[in-house]
Amino acid sequence: MKKVLIANRGEIALRVIRACRELGLRSVAVYSDADARAPHVREADEAVRLGPAPSSESYLRGELIIAAAKRVGVDAIHPGYGFLSEREWFARAVRDAGLIWVGPPAEAIAAMGSKTAARTLAIAHDVPVVPGTTEPLRDAKEAQAVAQQFGYPVLLKASAGGGGKGMRVVREPAAMAASLESAQREAMNAFGDDAVYVEKYIDGPRHVEIQVLADGHGRCVSLGERECSVQRRHQKMIEEAPSPAVNADLRKRMGTAAVRVAKAAGYQNAGTCEFLLASDSQFYFLEMNTRIQVEHPVTEMVTGIDLVQWQLRIAAGERLPFTSSIEPRGWAIECRITSEDASNHFLPSTGRIGYLRIPGGPGVRWDSGVGAGSDVTLYYDPMLAKLVVWAPNRADAISRMHRALDELTIDGVETSREFHLRVMEDDEFQRGAIDIQWLERRLDSLVGASAPRAQIEAAAITAALLAERDRLSRSPRAAGAAATGAAAAPPPAQSAWAQLARAQGLRQT
Ligand code: ADP
Repeated sequence: MKKVLIANRGEIALRVIRACRELGLRSVAVYSDADARAPHVREADEAVRLGPAPSSESYLRGELIIAAAKRVGVDAIHPGYGFLSEREWFARAVRDAGLIWVGPPAEAIAAMGSKTAARTLAIAHDVPVVPGTTEPLRDAKEAQAVAQQFGYPVLLKASAGGGGKGMRVVREPAAMAASLESAQREAMNAFGDDAVYVEKYIDGPRHVEIQVLADGHGRCVSLGERECSVQRRHQKMIEEAPSPAVNADLRKRMGTAAVRVAKAAGYQNAGTCEFLLASDSQFYFLEMNTRIQVEHPVTEMVTGIDLVQWQLRIAAGERLPFTSSIEPRGWAIECRITSEDASNHFLPSTGRIGYLRIPGGPGVRWDSGVGAGSDVTLYYDPMLAKLVVWAPNRADAISRMHRALDELTIDGVETSREFHLRVMEDDEFQRGAIDIQWLERRLDSLVGASAPRAQIEAAAITAALLAERDRLSRSPRAAGAAATGAAAAPPPAQSAWAQLARAQGLRQT
């Protein structure tokens, strides 16, 4: 394997390019018209244009990507996450084209492709799943009968689900028919498949997932857990490793369960088994993600294992040299920095990034796909960057993350930075007293807080502007005008802004 095409964009494309470079592999980027000048295109050794901005016309055009791969002569395709990464047909098409697929076999993607198939497989291998069904529901009557059996509340879930779509909590029989219908409709729209099944709704669990690596020689290892309970609308926002709720014994039991599921699916490469961890430490397998995850860096930070390099090494046929006995060292936290206005219902924000100050110093990692001058559009995911820190323990990691967020400045779009600062200051978060409903419960107090830093900044800018106006009105030119008897015209507002911007090193837009 000498040359790899990365069928993705943004931070994960850059992440793979970096791994390629460290392994001495050449990298090929692909891009849409919106990304022609994006960092991943500049950093790769070569780049191929796919098409217009919408992903349906660019990053989702598998046949175009394979044609490009053959044209430029790559040996392998790395799909990143999202886009085509979990499409069985694409993994198969890459293989059929005689190329190496940097991911699990198409058959393993298929085995884990539907939630019900994954549940069935887990049950067959003695891995606990949330009580519920494994067959799609026929109608509301059947759904009510099943819910009666497990007890309300229950959760309706799309078999083909992902990203929290096609899920409905049902708290009483009377709400079943309408919820089932809307879950089925949403599932049909999102996945082209309206199969919906039912699970017991677990109250206040944590989302804890296990990273596995499996090589092509029969070795499959667990690299420990990630805690991903800080979620909004079933979307992860902050992740950490290890989990405050997992001790060595539980880690071992969950790791063993994850490896059992992965082996049952004939898994190879990097994958993640997601579990719900109830307050009584009972865990339930949810599903397996057959790709590299957004939050993989926290595992890398506490294990010292480069997961993306290992994806490439496994695909090239290497053997894993380690076993599941790896214990996490220290603590890592990741904040997803998105272009969303947390104080305004996380409304997506667009614009051009002007000034960008990237945090640095000990234990800080910045994985991003944007730079100063990048345009943030609505075409793609709002995640601008992942800010990741490592420290010897959780308390130090939280204060390090707070310090790093404090250093971060992104000008030109609204971001989730303030929100993350408030979470780091939250006493429940600091105590690790989080579950998957925690953020929704706490959100108002977190984003509604008076955002003191923003107010201080606004006041500082106003003060600087007033001082600047004052200074300009006393400048020699103004003084000269006064001496010749002409009225000392107030300087145009623009110039004060311009000078202030220049003084602060801000780019003018
Ligand atoms: P998706 O693939 O759409 O992300 P998941 O099955 O991974 O769906 O579930 C997404 C999130 O929904 C989980 O992280 C968890 O927060 C919540 N969830 C899923 N199943 C249950 C359940 N049975 N009880 C309570 N919460 C659940």
